[in-house]
Amino acid sequence: MAKQTKIENIRNIGIMAHIDAGKTTVTERILYYTGRSHKIGEVHDGEAVMDWMEDEQDRGITITSAVTYCEWKGKTVQIIDTPGHVDFTVEVERALRVLDGAVGVFCAVGGVEPQSETVWRQADRYTVPRIAFVNKMDRTGADFFNTIEMMKTRLKARPLVLQLPVGKEDTFSGVIDLIERKQIRWNDESLGATYEEVEIDPALSEEADMYRENLIEAVAEADDDIMEKYLSEDVISVDDLKAAIRRVTVSEKYVPVLCGSALKNKGIQPLLDAINLYLPSPVEVKPVQGVHPETGETIECPADRKGPLSALIFKVSMIEGRKLSFARLYSGRIDAGSDVYNSFLGKNEKLSRILRMHAKKRERLDSAYAGDIVGIVGLKQSSTGETLCAKDHPVLLDRMEYEDPVISIAVEPKTHDDQEKLDEVLEKFLVEDPTLKVNKDEETGQTLLSGMGELHLEIIVSRMLKEFKTNVNVGNPQVVYREAIGSAARGQAVFEKEISGKEHYADIRMSLSPLERGEGVRFRSRVDPGSVPDHFVQAVEKGARDTLESGYYRGYPIVDTEVVFEGITLDENKTSELACTVCASIACRNALEKASVYLLEPVMTVELFVPEAFMGDAIGDLNARGGQVESVDARGDTQIIKATAPLSNMFGYSTVLRSATQGRGTFTMQFSHFDKVQ
Ligand code: GDP
Ligand code: MG
Repeated sequence: MAKQTKIENIRNIGIMAHIDAGKTTVTERILYYTGRSHKIGEVHDGEAVMDWMEDEQDRGITITSAVTYCEWKGKTVQIIDTPGHVDFTVEVERALRVLDGAVGVFCAVGGVEPQSETVWRQADRYTVPRIAFVNKMDRTGADFFNTIEMMKTRLKARPLVLQLPVGKEDTFSGVIDLIERKQIRWNDESLGATYEEVEIDPALSEEADMYRENLIEAVAEADDDIMEKYLSEDVISVDDLKAAIRRVTVSEKYVPVLCGSALKNKGIQPLLDAINLYLPSPVEVKPVQGVHPETGETIECPADRKGPLSALIFKVSMIEGRKLSFARLYSGRIDAGSDVYNSFLGKNEKLSRILRMHAKKRERLDSAYAGDIVGIVGLKQSSTGETLCAKDHPVLLDRMEYEDPVISIAVEPKTHDDQEKLDEVLEKFLVEDPTLKVNKDEETGQTLLSGMGELHLEIIVSRMLKEFKTNVNVGNPQVVYREAIGSAARGQAVFEKEISGKEHYADIRMSLSPLERGEGVRFRSRVDPGSVPDHFVQAVEKGARDTLESGYYRGYPIVDTEVVFEGITLDENKTSELACTVCASIACRNALEKASVYLLEPVMTVELFVPEAFMGDAIGDLNARGGQVESVDARGDTQIIKATAPLSNMFGYSTVLRSATQGRGTFTMQFSHFDKVQ
C-alpha cells in the first residue's frame, strides 16, 4: 500500500508557459528523471506523457489540467498541468486555485512573450510563489540575460539569478550553480540522466563571483537574517543562503531563475532541486478560506490532517466510462469506501475509490490527506467547483463562477448509429465541462452546442469523433444573443380553464421595466402579502421568469429587466398555483408585446500582438469589423493592440490574422459584455 507523504514534503506545482516555450518537454523530462516514465517521448513524435489525450497530441497544445504524481529526493511533487490557450482561462484559474507554487518556463530566444503576461498576472492575483526556468538555451539566438531583463520590465517580477549558462547555443553544455559555486556538465550519452559536478571554468570564475555577490546582496535586501550576516561580514553558509532564498520565494519577494535545455536534457535535475528547496509545501501557503453554507461566515481551513475535511473538486473527467473527480484536499482526510458531505448540494456522497494519478496509470489508495491531490471514483452527483467536507463542519470553498456561453454550433448525427451515441457522448462532456451547454431544437431535430469560443467547440467536436467515434455534421458557428426591453410596459391576463375536471382561475397584472446592463432579471411583488398566499406569489414569479428565459423577439433569454407583480384577482375556490404560473406567463408576454424588445450581442475584448510592420493593416481590419481600438502599446518590436469587437464579426479571425501577418501575429479574445446590436 502506498505510503503517506509528510505534508511538509509535498510540492503541488503548476508549470506555466507560453505555447511552445517547452512546457510539455520540461514536464516530460521531469517524469523521466524522477523515474516515472521509462522512455523519452518527444513532443514532435506525439508521445509525450502529459499529452495523453489524442487531441492534444494533434494540436501540440495541452488542454486538460491533468495532474501527475512523482517523487524527487524524498519529496512528492504533484504537477498540475495548466493550459495555455485563452479559450481555457477557466481551466487556468481552476488549476491556479489548487496549486501552491509554479514554475514559469520561458524560451531563451523569444524571452517573455506577451501572452505569458496574462497567465503571470493571474498567478499574481492568486498569490502563487514562482520560480523560472529559461529553456531552449541550445537554440540559436538564446539569450539568458535578455530573458531576465524582460521578466523585470514586462512581468514586473524580481528575478533572482541562481545559475549562469555555460556555453551558448550549440555549445551550451551546462550551468554554474552560484550558490554551491560549482559547474554542472551533463552527459549526452545518458540522455542527461547523469552529470558531473566540476570546478568552475577559470575563464568564468570572475563572472560567477560577481553574480554570486549580486545574489547575496539581493537576498540581503529582503531577508533580515542574511542582511545581518552580510553587514557584520559573517560567513553566509550555503544552507543559510538556501533557507533565505526559500523565505523570499515563498513570500513572493523574488523569483529564482534557472536555465537549461529540456530538449537537450540539460538543467532538469537542478530545477527539481529548486522545486523541493524553494517552493512552498501546503502548510506554508495561506490557509484557504471558505464560507459557512448557511450563515455565510468566513471559515479558514488550515492544512491540518487531523482537522475536519475540506476538499475542492477542481475537475471532473469521464475516463473509460467512469466518472473521475479530481480533488485537492486542504484539511482533514478522506477514506476509500466512506461517506463525504457535499456542502453545495447539501448531500452525502459515497466515495468508492481514491486514486493517485500518474501520467498514465493510477494507483489505489486507502486514504488521502490534507495537501494531496487525488482522483476520486464514486461521487455520483458532485461536480466541478463543489466542496467536500465533514457534515458537522460544513464549508463552501468559493464556488467557481462561469461566464455564459457566447457561441454555438449545430451538430447533426451522420447515421442512425451516431444518433444513438451522440446523446451519451454529450452527457459525458457535460459532466466534465461546466462551460459547455447543450440544447435540443425540437423542431429541427438539431442539437445546439454552446461554449466559450470557437476553439472550445472545435475541440469538443473533434473529441466526439476521435475518442467516441461519433460522426456529426457541423454547422457554422453562431453567436448566442440575449434580448432586452427598450421601454417599460404593463401586461394583464385572465386565465380561466377546466383541466381534468377542476376549474382554474387567476387575473394578474404585472409591469416590466428596463434595468442597467448586466443586472439580469429581478422580480418584485407589490401585492399585499396578507392578501395573497406566498406560494401563489412564487408561482407568479416562476411564470414570469420562464417567459423571459424563453425570449420574445428571437427566442434568446431576456435580461436586464425588472418584473413587478402589480396585482391579482383571486377566486377562493378556483385560484391555483398552476393558474398563477400560466396567467403570469400570459401577462408577461402581453407586456413584452409593448416593451420594444431588441437584441443584445456578445462583445469581446481582443488583444492583438503584431509586428510593427503589420500594425496599420491590423487596426484597419479591426475597424472594418466594427471593433474599437482602446490602446496601442509598443513592446520591443511587437505592438499590442487592445480593442473591443462584436463576436459575430470575429469568426475565423485566427486564420485571417495568421495569413495577414505571415504567421507572426497572435491574439487573445475573451467575452467582455453584451451590447445592443448596431
Ligand atoms: P509547450 O507548447 O510549451 O508545451 O512546448 P513543447 O514542449 O511542446 O515544445 C515546443 C517545441 O519546442 C517542440 O518542438 C520541442 O521539441 C521544442 N523544445 C522544447 N524544449 C526545447 C529546448 O530546450 N531546446 C530546443 N531547441 N527546442 C525545444
Ligand atoms: Mg504542451
